[in-house]
Amino acid sequence: MSNKDSTQTAAKRLDVIIVGGGFGGMYATYKFREMGMKIQSFEAGGDLGGVWYWNRYPGARVDLPSIDYSYSFSPEVEQEWTWSEQFAAQPELLRYIDFVATRLDLRKHYQFKTRITSAVWDEARKLWTVETDRGERFEAPFCIMATGPLSVPKVPDIPGVEKFKGRLLHAGRWPHEPVSFEGLRVGVIGTGSTGIQIVQDVGPQAGELFVFQRTPSFTMPMRNVPLTPEYISEVRRNYAGIREAARNSTVGGTRPQSTRAFFSVTPEQRQSLLEDAWKQGGLAMLGTFGDLMVNEEANEQVAEFVRGKIAEVVEDPKTAEALKPKGYPIFARRPCLDSSYYETYNLPNVHLVDCITDPILEVTERGVRNASGEIELDMLILATGYDALTGALIAFDVVGKGGRTVNQKWVHGGRSTLGIMMEGFPNLFMTTGPNGPSALANIIRISEHDVDWIAAAITHMQKNGLATMEPTTQAEDNWMGVVHGLAQRSLINKAKTWWVGANVPGKSQGLTMFIGGFAKYRELCAAAVSDGYSGFTFGRAEEKTKERAEA
Ligand code: NAP
Repeated sequence: MSNKDSTQTAAKRLDVIIVGGGFGGMYATYKFREMGMKIQSFEAGGDLGGVWYWNRYPGARVDLPSIDYSYSFSPEVEQEWTWSEQFAAQPELLRYIDFVATRLDLRKHYQFKTRITSAVWDEARKLWTVETDRGERFEAPFCIMATGPLSVPKVPDIPGVEKFKGRLLHAGRWPHEPVSFEGLRVGVIGTGSTGIQIVQDVGPQAGELFVFQRTPSFTMPMRNVPLTPEYISEVRRNYAGIREAARNSTVGGTRPQSTRAFFSVTPEQRQSLLEDAWKQGGLAMLGTFGDLMVNEEANEQVAEFVRGKIAEVVEDPKTAEALKPKGYPIFARRPCLDSSYYETYNLPNVHLVDCITDPILEVTERGVRNASGEIELDMLILATGYDALTGALIAFDVVGKGGRTVNQKWVHGGRSTLGIMMEGFPNLFMTTGPNGPSALANIIRISEHDVDWIAAAITHMQKNGLATMEPTTQAEDNWMGVVHGLAQRSLINKAKTWWVGANVPGKSQGLTMFIGGFAKYRELCAAAVSDGYSGFTFGRAEEKTKERAEA
């Protein structure tokens, strides 16, 4: 059925519409069902999982400990599920998602392979009307956009990508069937978290692997280990404490953190602390000192420590030099974890193409043409990232009061109140929105927090006979003032990354995430409630009834 036909179709009436089948959408689906609301959830993919449904590329693995990267809202799920590794690989993450969905019977609420094409606020009827690419219409007073910060893959603006006659793959839309690299000349464009995972996995399998690197990333050893039954039992006994610690931390996880200033200890102590963190692996380096993101000199010394490690591993000095990130602070680009990334460049079939000294000019029918010549390829993998943070909500028409779209509202960058609501868009809620901690903290902790906050707001409305809720302009200005004020102090602004919108041509630049930490974020969201929702205006149910009668 076309969209045109759909305008003739009667809309199905619901209480809550939920968009997205990732961690946020799944929890929202559970939460609102348990509240007895009539819900319908939508997901563009063929099943649940969000990024983990789409990102099936070789080597895909979470780089937060699995124990942290899991739901905390269900003691049953916590007690019944067993993680096999400290950092779970994508297939295990999908098995976990399947386990949760089955255990809590979530799939029946979802319509899969369904993309929302528009969401429009009907001011007279105080309802969101949502249309799908199947030509259906749904209406509900509440709409939850659990669309995720990394759900719109970005194809690079390199001329000729569409001309390539070999196999073209995007990491974020990886095929479901196995992909063989044996004997093939494979190219990978992009060396962020995704590219690094692909390179270390595909390097030993491919005939030849050409890594097209523009900006090198800092990556540190993951040092993944299997989890023993004893460890799992201990975690199960202590889940409540583990979750409480995570909720009260800046990153929403149990990673150790320090308030120690870099220059407060001797050079020998600093070296020894960094060596320990390197050996420990994971993101331990980030927790070694408290001032790495505000003290440029401290940051540079840590960066130099990691550059030294690259030189120790990579045998060819020219390749080692090209792999060393320079010109931006460490951790200002998302830190990556690897198991054998630098070692991969010691394989004779793996070649680094430095696109700074030898820029990509175009993709041709046969491969990639750099300034120095053409490299013929059988397969080209794009690990070129996402239109992040704001991309999902500007990819379709989300139309609020007075016909204003989110696209128009966000023309100068993501703008919201608490990262959850937007002035001009009543009863529309986001999880992990662009002005919350988003990519800077554990996305599952944020999702659970945001859904709980939204559920409390809706309960407040129900109890008080309120029909609509919307942040005031003043509250939104205040929140964005907090977000921007904190952002100015951070070294994150000194790197050109998706965190600041630099990866999408024409996108408004700047750090719009809340960098005050997850615990502080929770505190500020709780304060917005405890002061009687003074930053929000509410419309009464009676007004709604009256307006309906007049309509
Ligand atoms: P990304 O960090 O944005 O990296 C994209 C890469 O593509 C960059 O190296 C970029 O180079 C390169 N690129 C883009 N356009 C290019 C062009 N025209 N020519 C040459 N190179 C180009 O994307 P990502 O690696 O997919 O990671 C995105 C985020 O997903 C991560 O930061 C992380 O939050 C998440 N992620 C997490 C995991 C995990 O948990 N382990 C794994 C994968 C991803 P420039 O920097 O020079 O633009």
